Amino acid sequence: PASKLPDVGASIFTVMSALANEHQAINLSQGFPDFNCPEPLIHLADKYMREGFNQYAPMAGMPQLRHKISLKTEKMYGFSPDPDTEVTVTSGATEALNAAITAVVKPGDEVVVLEPCYDSYAPVIRLCGGAPMYVPLSLPDFSIDWDQVKKRVSSRTRLIIINTPHNPTGAVMSRQDMDTLANLLDGTDILVLSDEVYEHMVFDGQEHYSALQHPQLRERSFVVSSFGKTYHTTGWKVGYAVAPAPLTNELRKMHQFITFCTATPLQLAIADFMEEETHYLGLPDFYQAKRDFFLEQLKQTRFEFIPSAGTYFQLVKYDGITDAYDVDFARHLTTQTGVAAIPVSAFYHDKTDNKYLRFCFAKSEETLRAAGEKLKSV
Ligand code: PMP
Ligand code: GLN
Repeated sequence: PASKLPDVGASIFTVMSALANEHQAINLSQGFPDFNCPEPLIHLADKYMREGFNQYAPMAGMPQLRHKISLKTEKMYGFSPDPDTEVTVTSGATEALNAAITAVVKPGDEVVVLEPCYDSYAPVIRLCGGAPMYVPLSLPDFSIDWDQVKKRVSSRTRLIIINTPHNPTGAVMSRQDMDTLANLLDGTDILVLSDEVYEHMVFDGQEHYSALQHPQLRERSFVVSSFGKTYHTTGWKVGYAVAPAPLTNELRKMHQFITFCTATPLQLAIADFMEEETHYLGLPDFYQAKRDFFLEQLKQTRFEFIPSAGTYFQLVKYDGITDAYDVDFARHLTTQTGVAAIPVSAFYHDKTDNKYLRFCFAKSEETLRAAGEKLKSV
């Protein structure tokens, strides 16, 4: 039978992690920490499993967790979503993104997508019969060219997807970007999907500016986050979406038939652990120290970089080393040098190759030091 996504193969994260394992390379490709999540979180999950919280959670998420998400949103962004009607717990941000897109995109709709972008957006848009309308971010800082965005907006535009802090580039949207977006959408019924999974990883004293902080944006936005990033638990797959009640209502119709609900004991453990605000309030310093340690290593190599402003990714430019296609160079680095990275062309629909690789620095100092040693030989 004809494939619904004929051009889609295994994701670049799957491919590079497998290659890294096969060649025993240091894996700085797929984004995940190589250190464990906090001990108390493990104890809480264990406790709830032993106490028998092992059956279905309510479809929208455990009330305790939705309440904590609302409190955190109030504390960080000065807005408290209604836990009953505006917060939905999902199986990772991936599910929230899927549910938000499928809830609103109909055949013939257009969705504005800024490239490079996370790999899950476009296939879901296409499965809905929608058309991704790509706008490239501007080199060298991957800022948003709002005039270009404006040119891509039409009477068919249903949704615009933004991602801040941005994977893979580490770019962070400013308050002014959000204002410009709000002005652009004023008077239209275009919705926003704001992927903010790295909301707690912003560096150098900058602040994450959430769509939830912006009154005109939040009334038309799905805002998505992930506990996988915040609590070093990418394998738990617990995330959430915040959206106005009518949008949440539509998103939940999708969620209830994608997974119905998300792991009960993990939701309860996270809800309790969220009391510990110092964890997420400390994340910028925690990851900035890792970024800086990694940059110290990179300074002794021939790679060029602009320090990442957010996320746990660092882009490097390698055109001073070789003019090889980034996919080939990433493969070479993995198999010959012993360090795996992600080629950034994988985040462009037409595989645009600007000679960038993405390294994940959510790793122990030993790992980052060992990777730096190997990269010096390149
Ligand atoms: N969006 C972005 C930008 C991401 O980097 C990731 C994680 N790779 C996700 C969504 C998915 O998050 P989760 O693992 O919670 O599904
Ligand atoms: N979000 C992770 C990354 O960007 C990968 C997640 C996945 O493997 N699907 O590396």
